[in-house]
Amino acid sequence: MNNIGVESAFDVLVRARALEAKGRSIVHLEIGEPDFPTPAHIVEAAKQALDEGWTHYGPSSGLPELRETIAAHVARTRGVKVDAQNVAVVPGGKPIIFFPMIALLEPGDEVVYPNPAFPIYESMIRFLGAKPVPIPLEEKRGFSFDLDRFRDSLTDRTRMVILNSPQNPTGGLIPYEDLKAMADILRDRDVIVLSDEIYSRIYYGDEAPASIASFPGMLEKTIILDGFSKTYAMTGWRMGYGVMPTWLVDAVSKLMVNSNSCTASFTQRAGIAALNGPQECVTEMVAEFRRRRDAICQGLNEVPGFRCPIPGGAFYAFANVTGTGMDSKEVADLLLQEAGVACLNGASFGEYGSGYVRFSYANSLANLNEAVERIKKVAVRWEPAAVRG
Ligand code: PLP
Repeated sequence: MNNIGVESAFDVLVRARALEAKGRSIVHLEIGEPDFPTPAHIVEAAKQALDEGWTHYGPSSGLPELRETIAAHVARTRGVKVDAQNVAVVPGGKPIIFFPMIALLEPGDEVVYPNPAFPIYESMIRFLGAKPVPIPLEEKRGFSFDLDRFRDSLTDRTRMVILNSPQNPTGGLIPYEDLKAMADILRDRDVIVLSDEIYSRIYYGDEAPASIASFPGMLEKTIILDGFSKTYAMTGWRMGYGVMPTWLVDAVSKLMVNSNSCTASFTQRAGIAALNGPQECVTEMVAEFRRRRDAICQGLNEVPGFRCPIPGGAFYAFANVTGTGMDSKEVADLLLQEAGVACLNGASFGEYGSGYVRFSYANSLANLNEAVERIKKVAVRWEPAAVRG
C-alpha cells in the first residue's frame, strides 16, 4: 500500500471545504467534473428501469444491449470494426485503468506514459511493481510528446503505453500526425496501448480527436477507455467502458466477478438511453465549455506572470506560472488561501507538471470571472518580479 497514490483534487477539495466551514468564500476550480445536471431523458430512463425491475445482478461484462450500443458507437466514432464481444462495461472509466493493468503488468515491466497526466496511471504502475517511464508533455508542442524521445523510451521490457487525448490536466490533444507516427513505432512491438479517451466528445476544433486504434494493425493491441462521466455529466453514476481484444475482455470480466460482480443494472439501461438518445445535450455542454474556456484563458493571460495556452479539449486550463518567480505549489496554495480560488498544482500530475497550475473550468462563467478578478488582486504580491507571459 505504500506504493499506491491518490488524487490531489480530492485533497484540495477537503482543504477548500474546511475553509468554507470557517466562513470563507471559495470558487471551486479543482475538481474535474461537469457542473451540469445529467440530461433529463437519461435520468428518466434510469427511473423507468428501476420501475421495470432492473435492480438485480447482471452479466459481469455488462448488459448485452448496452455492449452492442457501445460497440456501434465506438465503431462509428473511431472508424474501427468492433462488436459487443470487445466491450467491457465497468463502474466508471477508472476500472479500465485498474483492471487491465492488474491483468497485464508484472513486476519489472515498463510502462511508458505521459507526464503530467491523470495521477492514477503512475499510482497503478507503482502499485503493481512495474517501472514508470514518464514522457514529458511539452507546452511548445501543444502538450504532445517529443516523438524521438517516445521512440527512445521503448525497450524490450515495455509492456504498456498509455496515451490520453484530449488530456487531463493540459487540455491538449495529440495531433493526428503524431498518433500516426506512434502507431508506426508501436505496430510491430509486443505492447498494449491503453488509450484513455474519456474526453473524446469534449473538443473545440472541427475534427474529432483521433484514436490510435483506428490506424492499421493497432486495434488488436489497443484498449480504448471511454465512459459516461464527462460526456453526459454522469460522474456519480459510475459507468464506463473499455473496448479491447476479447481475451482482455475475459480478463476484465474475471476481475469484475472478483470485485464488483457487475455494473449497476438500472444505470446501464440509462447508458443505452444516453448513447441512443438526442445528443444536443453534449453539443450544448461543449459550446458552454468553449465560452468558459475562452473567458478563463483570456483572464489568466492578463495575470502578470501567467501564460495560458488555449486548450483544444477537455475542460482544463493549464497555466504556466513560472513567470511569477514562485513555485507552482506556492502559487496554488496562495490562490486557495488568499484568493479563495481552489486549483491544482501541476506537479501533482507528475514532475513535468511543475511550473503549471490546473484550473478546471467546469464552473459558471460568473464564477470563472470572479476567480480571475480574485487572482488579479493577489497577483500584486508577485507582480513586481513577474515576467509577462
Ligand atoms: N481518465 C482521465 C484522464 C480522467 O481525467 C478521469 C476522471 O477525472 C478518468 C479517466 C476517470 O473517469 P471516471 O470518473 O469515469 O472513472
